[in-house]
Amino acid sequence: MKRFTTVNRGDSESQRICLHIKNELSHAGFTYDAANPELVVCVGGDGTLLKAFHEYLNLVDNVAFVGIHTGTLGFSTDYTQDQVDSFIHDVIHNTPTIDEKRILEVMCTNTHKTQHFMALNEVRVENIVKTQAMDIFINDQHFETFRGNGVCISGQYGSTAYNRSIGGAVIYPGLDLLQMTEISGIHHRHARSLGSPLVMNPEAKITLKHESFDHALLCYDHLHIHLDNIHTITIKNSDQTMKFARFKSIPHIQRLNALF
Ligand code: NAP
Repeated sequence: MKRFTTVNRGDSESQRICLHIKNELSHAGFTYDAANPELVVCVGGDGTLLKAFHEYLNLVDNVAFVGIHTGTLGFSTDYTQDQVDSFIHDVIHNTPTIDEKRILEVMCTNTHKTQHFMALNEVRVENIVKTQAMDIFINDQHFETFRGNGVCISGQYGSTAYNRSIGGAVIYPGLDLLQMTEISGIHHRHARSLGSPLVMNPEAKITLKHESFDHALLCYDHLHIHLDNIHTITIKNSDQTMKFARFKSIPHIQRLNALF
């Protein structure tokens, strides 16, 4: 991993750390290559890693990411800002293990075309303007008619993000699962859906259909599109993974403890 680049949160401290890493690694014989890196060093937080993932999505098969948190230890960031010199040492002297995380794929279809998007944390269909009804199919079988604000679909990696805030389960690494969690579901005598998060195998395909998703948004990580004129949304795991370069081992319990 001799070609590297840096991505930062945009604050002056993260920028300063990036410059320091760039200088030190270049001095040690590494090549700064923002166009075609093998290693993307993300300085900021879990949100910075997410933005770097989308920035380098076209290279995702050949690039690995590592995070430094300019705050407390984040969930996926392996170093804090006090450990930058230890990080530089590890990059120069250690070979990382590669930790792969599933990438979600979403297809939005109307009568004319299908659009594709990728997400690492989650895909949400959410309507805060009016009650959104939708028929939910799992592997092409009708599962339920949902009414409420929407649903969130995440894998193991995104289980600690938005999913966790809406009562979804945090999934341990190594458990390759998909999870669908309701966002403000309506439950009464005339409208009822499962109500609890549904955990599925990684091959599951989730299809959301309704004659109108007008005013609803498709949120995929920090990005979104308007769903006006869309009638079918399909979410499943893609064949691609995001790769974390782990230069040191951090117990998962320690990462979980950083969440609360
Ligand atoms: P953002 O400011 O980049 O992130 C919002 C918060 O979510 C930050 O504290 C971030 O940690 C944390 N986070 C992001 N990915 C995480 C993960 N995989 N596990 C644990 N924590 C994670 O917000 P944004 O740009 O609007 O959206 C990016 C992501 O943030 C979304 O994909 C969504 O999952 C998450 N988010 C969560 C909530 C919520 O929990 N209510 C609301 C909005 C967005 P850092 O501080 O380390 O960056």
